[in-house]
Amino acid sequence: MTSYIAAAVKAKVTLIEKNRMGGDCLYTGCVPSKALIRSAKFLAHTHRANEFGFKSADVEFDFADIMQRVQRVIKTIEPHDSSERYSKLGVECINGEAKITSPWTVEVNGKTLTTRSIVIAAGAHPFIPPIPGIEDVTYYTSDTIWALRELPKRLVVLGGGPIGSELTQCFARFGSHVSQIEMLPRLLIREDIEISELVMQRFRKEGVSVLTNHMAKEFLIENGEKILICEHQGKDISIAFDELLVAVGRAANTTGYGLEDLGIQTTNSKTIETNEFLQTSYPNIFACGDVAGPFQFTHTAAHQAWYAAVNALFGNFKKFKVDYSVIPWATFTDPEVARVGLNEIEAKDRNISYEVTIYGIDDLDRAIADEEAHGMIKVLTVPGKDRILGVTIVGEHAGDLIAEYVGAMRNKVGLNKILGTIHIYPTLVEANKYVAGNWKRAHAPQQLLKWVEKYHAWRRN
Ligand SMILES: Cc1cc2nc3c(=O)[nH]c(=O)nc-3n(C[C@H](O)[C@H](O)[C@H](O)COP(=O)(O)OP(=O)(O)OC[C@H]3O[C@@H](n4cnc5c(N)ncnc54)[C@H](O)[C@@H]3O)c2cc1C
Repeated sequence: MTSYIAAAVKAKVTLIEKNRMGGDCLYTGCVPSKALIRSAKFLAHTHRANEFGFKSADVEFDFADIMQRVQRVIKTIEPHDSSERYSKLGVECINGEAKITSPWTVEVNGKTLTTRSIVIAAGAHPFIPPIPGIEDVTYYTSDTIWALRELPKRLVVLGGGPIGSELTQCFARFGSHVSQIEMLPRLLIREDIEISELVMQRFRKEGVSVLTNHMAKEFLIENGEKILICEHQGKDISIAFDELLVAVGRAANTTGYGLEDLGIQTTNSKTIETNEFLQTSYPNIFACGDVAGPFQFTHTAAHQAWYAAVNALFGNFKKFKVDYSVIPWATFTDPEVARVGLNEIEAKDRNISYEVTIYGIDDLDRAIADEEAHGMIKVLTVPGKDRILGVTIVGEHAGDLIAEYVGAMRNKVGLNKILGTIHIYPTLVEANKYVAGNWKRAHAPQQLLKWVEKYHAWRRN
């Protein structure tokens, strides 16, 4: 994205990629996971056939075909990120491993390139926790799971974050017995308690063993069987499994390409330290995306890329502070969880006072018609004011529904304006209007309503 922006403003820009253009998002992240989720959802719908008025809908499938479909999706999207496309846009693309040799030189394929500015966008990799025995049982990560062609009978997923949760549900839906291990008290720990609860309830209903408050202690092989030992409430629990997926977080790629020699500083979370202009400890070396944090999303990487490119090219005239005021994201479990701005946990942590307005999507006409009458919209506002602090949505297409609030927060639009906007009937997005209606009712001018009541009574006389 940085090179795209630089080329668009006619700069001479070189993009160096050691592996495949498109990075994690295309090959091992967003794209394959969303493709797999779609197939798993189709299958889950067939299991609910009688809810939709069918006697049954038996589906036969081969897991290998589903994983092939994932590769087909990647192949279809691949041209969007290809060297051919970027070259046409005016970017010089080099396939090779870059090494930053000084603040003005980068070495690649034995050649030295000189440059005024460098943007580091080296991404992250799955973190493997140093649990005794983990190296003795073969394990998958989000980097390698896409090569799997046989559905594991018993799968252990280590990690209750978004990646672990999305993949847990997929494998459970295809028919694996999945034990999802999380040492904290709930899945999706950054979300409010009742939000995580809704996801955990669904996971349990779909047959996942959701093992929260379980601390993975050791991996063993006993009589040829793989065993995970977890500590739970002071006791050891053994879980036998066939395959293991490790999804306990992602660590920034900060070593092996020159940062150590230059002494580029890193943060406590081991990402590259940057200032508000995304400059590293060298003012002409910038960093963005997963390698810089604090977010690990494709859209935040792209957002930062604009600042890195513009500040690198035009910083002598004007520098722009990266704006993190309105950051949305979604976890694509079923139900989806989407958020923008603050939730209750964060508002409390930051001592920010708030009011909560909730609308239950179980009451929404379209959700009822679609057999998806579940979930909620939860809006935090400044007490007594029409200013949105944050929104969480759990439910069908939450990741799409949140967009209205992203726009509202970005443009400082409040709930009154959302309430006054026509939403198409019957759509899921009407839920946004109804939560605004709930907020409005709670803030109705009581004194004025009393007067109006008297006025109506007087007119009737
Ligand atoms: C399973 C999974 C699902 C995800 N789902 C979502 C989602 O739904 N939505 C979302 O927004 N995000 C999602 N993410 C996160 C998203 O993939 C990342 O946030 C995003 O890819 C970060 O982009 P990036 O450009 O910083 O890094 P990357 O995409 O990792 O790109 C970094 C590139 O740098 C290259 N590189 C590194 N070092 C060098 C070097 N020395 N020389 C040359 N090249 C080098 C690497 O080969 C890599 O291609 C998901 C991630 C995973 C793992």
